[in-house]
Amino acid sequence: MGLQLTVLGSAGSHTGVGRACSGYLVEVDGTRLLVDAGNGSTANLQRLCSLRELDAVAISHRHVDHCIDLIGCYYNLRFDPAFDGQVPLYAAAEVHELLTSMMSNDSTLEFDLVFRHQQVGHGDEAEVGPMHLRFAHSIHPVPAVSVRIEAGGRTLVYSGDSAGGDELVEIARGADLFLCEASWTGDIDDWLPGIHLTATQAGHLAREAGVGRLVLTHITGAVDRDVARAEAATAFGGPVHLAEDLDTYAV
Ligand SMILES: [Zn+2]
Ligand SMILES: [Zn+2]
Repeated sequence: MGLQLTVLGSAGSHTGVGRACSGYLVEVDGTRLLVDAGNGSTANLQRLCSLRELDAVAISHRHVDHCIDLIGCYYNLRFDPAFDGQVPLYAAAEVHELLTSMMSNDSTLEFDLVFRHQQVGHGDEAEVGPMHLRFAHSIHPVPAVSVRIEAGGRTLVYSGDSAGGDELVEIARGADLFLCEASWTGDIDDWLPGIHLTATQAGHLAREAGVGRLVLTHITGAVDRDVARAEAATAFGGPVHLAEDLDTYAV
């Protein structure tokens, strides 16, 4: 199997009807990387594999719609007699601090029995089996990263939550599949600055970065999804898909 992406949660900021928050399973040749673990996403993950089959987890930032399910994953794995060892967790320090603060006594010790946290930020790299990961700073109100995942000559880039900028264009450069947030539609001036992208902005970024395909995700509930697709397609000029929970893409 080549590099493959399965959407576990495509909702923006809050769950929708049958739609979980951000979570993505990235697989290649039996190696499994979970990217983000927003509310509800790991319920979908367990349709595909058990949590103990994860080789690593990468979390884009500390907002709960991207990380809160790791608390449940902790309890699942901590009391799974077949689980042995720690799962590497690539995330900013603030993600680890938030999750451990929500647990009970000796929380850090306990959490670290299951997850081996490695702090990541702009320019950091990691290997997960045959996957090479590179992280870039993302413009967002809290420390956040985008991630570029390469394996077998194919490249997947995930924006995380982002307001765009040169670092996102640079990390997305030439990606075969660009999974980009598009929280909003219309004019960014009608929304809040420095937090998220509109579909038009996501399309412009995809065009500037020269990506092959654009998959829009993290579309918020108030937004018309067909309008988001149309706006992104006009700005990008290439193929645009809307992420749906449990859709799989061969990168
Ligand atoms: Zn979010
Ligand atoms: Zn966020």
